[in-house]
Amino acid sequence: MQKPLPPCAFQCGAAQLELFTPPAAPAAAAFDWDRQHVVVIGDSGGKDSGATVHTVCRAADAAGQLHKVRILHCDLGTTPAGHSIEWPGAADVARRRAAAYGVPFAVRRSTRWPSLWDRMISHGRWPGFFARYCTSDTKTAVGRAYVDELRAELRLHEPIRAGYAMGMRAEESRARARKPVVERHRMSGQGTLRVVTTWLPIHHLTTEQVWQMHEENGIERHDAYRMGMSRLSCRACPLASTGDLVRSAQLNPALFAEYAAAEHELGQFKGSISLREIIERAQG
Ligand code: SF4
Repeated sequence: MQKPLPPCAFQCGAAQLELFTPPAAPAAAAFDWDRQHVVVIGDSGGKDSGATVHTVCRAADAAGQLHKVRILHCDLGTTPAGHSIEWPGAADVARRRAAAYGVPFAVRRSTRWPSLWDRMISHGRWPGFFARYCTSDTKTAVGRAYVDELRAELRLHEPIRAGYAMGMRAEESRARARKPVVERHRMSGQGTLRVVTTWLPIHHLTTEQVWQMHEENGIERHDAYRMGMSRLSCRACPLASTGDLVRSAQLNPALFAEYAAAEHELGQFKGSISLREIIERAQG
């Protein structure tokens, strides 16, 4: 039986409400390419993922290790009415980015939860800062299963040693600023068949530098940014800023109406504001 997953911000850009000037950049930690059988990059389709893909693929190429790199997009499924939980096209952006660097690409979804919607209904409350079951169960668990899949694909007779690159940045929150750039992940452990080392290659970058990297290197960005969103991933996220939620409600009225109808079951969507109020502001 697998150990329960800890709450985790795996490949999810939603811890963004605490923008601040981070402390001095953490000491550069070396990522040991030679030690890894594979290096997985989590790509949500967002800007931080784009910068991560670029940074890792460039570094892999320079080190003669590009053959080890895989890009994974975690599919979060749909609502009962058939609305995509994520921004439509996010997986396609990730797929094209992988193709641009000549790296294998995979889309995987939780085998336990058909969609994040099912997980939320099962939990009985919306996700929150202290209830990150959404990322634990639909991203971390999926990444872990993908690493195990790669072990089988490589026919290894020893624990797979996998790097897992993510786009978290120190600027996003104090919690993220404290995260080591290179760290053995909790999905490793005694008795498992995997040793996972997480790597945050753009931890030191500011939002401005992330966009600059896109400009200078022709990295594809999702259209949602052009339409006024500052973050991607779920179209309705309780951890997103109110401004992003209002803009998303304008762009995704049917999805927000479906989420709002679930507030009687799951409680108020966000501590500071309900979905009904978000929709009213979007329509105002
Ligand atoms: S609701 Fe979606 S975007 Fe928000 S924290 Fe959870 S997985 Fe991330």
